[in-house]
Amino acid sequence: MSARIIDGKSIAADLRARVAATVRVLDEQSVRPGLAVVLVGADPASEIYVRSKSRAVMEAGMRAFDHKLPADASEADVLALVRKLNQDADVSGILVQLPLPAQIDPHKVIEAIDPAKDVDGFHPLNAGRLARGLPGLVPCTPLGCVILAKTARPSLAGLNALVIGRSGIVGKPVAQLLLAEDATVTIAHSRTADLPALTRQADLLVAAIGRPNYVKADWIKPGAIVIDVGINRIAGADGKSRVVGDVDAGAAAVAGAITPVPGGVGPMTIACLLANTVRAACAQRGLSAPAL
Ligand code: NDP
Repeated sequence: MSARIIDGKSIAADLRARVAATVRVLDEQSVRPGLAVVLVGADPASEIYVRSKSRAVMEAGMRAFDHKLPADASEADVLALVRKLNQDADVSGILVQLPLPAQIDPHKVIEAIDPAKDVDGFHPLNAGRLARGLPGLVPCTPLGCVILAKTARPSLAGLNALVIGRSGIVGKPVAQLLLAEDATVTIAHSRTADLPALTRQADLLVAAIGRPNYVKADWIKPGAIVIDVGINRIAGADGKSRVVGDVDAGAAAVAGAITPVPGGVGPMTIACLLANTVRAACAQRGLSAPAL
């Protein structure tokens, strides 16, 4: 038996279409959501991410405001820009592309963002709201993981969920979201003892490690839902680089449903960013949250 492949590309395209439809309805009420993206320096990977985010924002009918600062910009420069964007009524969401150059403290910058415009969901207030089970802006990649898992099984209640990774941007928030879905959640990390014994009990496995093909096929519980967050660039046999996940390809023969890499979680991250921008725009105008 081989796993159902959870097609992140098409699920993300559906979400983006729903976002665009909501933007058209908002337009009739003279509300036009806008996302400001701040890029400091010229890291090639970050430039690609920022370009694709801005393109997706415009394709959804929203406004994109791109702000580029030089690699030697000071922390004060970035903070001043964030404060200006906080005050700008045309800007519904603010995203500061990470990583930032060494002279800038990312925590200070994230904390300077108005929590109501924090579409990445990284501000401590939004992280705290998520931990308390209160409404707020939720980080995009974790949100995408849960949406994908629910396409395989609409109710995650009672499942044994294992999240490998405890970062503030993926592991911890995805664990909180799964808890909110009534899964029984375990978080594993680099100091976890006997990881394969834990994975073998997991009905739902989220791998957010950053190590190519780390989770082996015989670690997977037969029939499990596997969400592979990893994006790892490795050299292929032909010498060309390619992207692989944290889960070995052989897992597809054991799992019940699995996300591919690429084409799984990745496309959901941008789609959820667009959805968060619309949610933020509605909340800022006192409109009820759109059903996305
Ligand atoms: P981090 O490096 O911040 O966190 C990695 C986590 O994995 C840490 O908690 C670490 O444990 C844990 N870990 C490392 N080695 C092991 C091991 N041998 N066994 C068990 N746990 C281990 O990474 P991120 O959370 O930022 O990202 C994780 C992956 O997801 C990366 O591949 C990244 O590229 C990808 N990613 C993909 C996105 C997408 O859009 N699809 C978006 C964001 C990230 P410890 O805390 O003990 O160090």
